[in-house]
Amino acid sequence: MEPLTNSADPMPVDEDWAAGLLLLPGGILDGKGNCLKTVRVRELTGRDEELLADRRYRNAVEQVTDFLTQVIVEVPGLDRPVSKELVAEMLIGDRDYLLLRLRQVSLGDQVEQVMRCPSTACGKKADVEFLISELPVRRVPTVQLWYEFDLSAPARSEDARSNHVTLRLPVGLDLEAVLDCKDLNPALANTRLFARIVKSVGHSRVDEAAARDLPLRLRGEITDFLRGITPGPDLKIDIQCPHCGTDMSYGFDLYGFFLPNG
Ligand SMILES: [Zn+2]
Repeated sequence: MEPLTNSADPMPVDEDWAAGLLLLPGGILDGKGNCLKTVRVRELTGRDEELLADRRYRNAVEQVTDFLTQVIVEVPGLDRPVSKELVAEMLIGDRDYLLLRLRQVSLGDQVEQVMRCPSTACGKKADVEFLISELPVRRVPTVQLWYEFDLSAPARSEDARSNHVTLRLPVGLDLEAVLDCKDLNPALANTRLFARIVKSVGHSRVDEAAARDLPLRLRGEITDFLRGITPGPDLKIDIQCPHCGTDMSYGFDLYGFFLPNG
């Protein structure tokens, strides 16, 4: 596997905002297997603001897909035009990165939120301030269509090769498919996600039933492997309550933040 790089530098030297050139943390694979990292975006306009404010969208992921489709002008070197299909197949981390950068450039770097301390003894409100440029971004040198790795044990006793997993990184379409149950039942969302992105475990293809039957420990190993190879911004905000010191760390809700009605 290619080595991973963690970079806290949000604005790599290759990016040129004046020309609208942004550098994806992952990348887009063309038909020949080349990993294209540069996209050219245009400045946001009222048209984009209207799309982001549109309450008719049933699914926030689809809304982000439509938004990015109209904002990405081109992917230099790519053998196909920018389309809704292309954006829906972009890696989740790349889509998140573009959302963050577009927000940062058009509306400013600073984010202010009010969060409530989870300690029942305290429960006070705390102002949270951070800069988008402070969020670490994990960049990978290249992305692959498929990744292979070995689990610590076979998933099925009758198949000795069932420790071997082939999977791909999740894209916008995968997130769209599991969004309905993501908050209500994260475990079900995981099962559905595995059924979509795991191509095979040993000699068997993986459908929803097979993903559900995987031992909990092995499901955890698949999640850990994915976490290790996934490029994109790290949205975890580490803070303590200023009143009582309780850990208030949370995952920054990028969609809720970017979509006024999200
Ligand atoms: Zn507190």
